[in-house]
Amino acid sequence: MTTHVQTTECPECDARVEFSRPPLCGEIARCGDCGVELEVTSASPLAVVVAPPVQEDWGE
Ligand SMILES: [Zn+2]
Repeated sequence: MTTHVQTTECPECDARVEFSRPPLCGEIARCGDCGVELEVTSASPLAVVVAPPVQEDWGE
C-alpha cells in the first residue's frame, strides 16, 4: 500500500511541509521548521501561502 503523504515547500523558509492526509482548500497548516501558519489555497496541485496574521479586533 502506498501512503498519500503530500508535500510542498514552505513559502517562508523553503522547508518541506508534509501533509499526512490530503489537505483541504482553506485548511491551515503550520510549518514545522519556522512555525509560520500556512493556508492551503489549492488541494491539487497542492499550493500554500503564508496565512495572514490573525487580527485581534476587540472592537471599540
Ligand atoms: Zn517555514
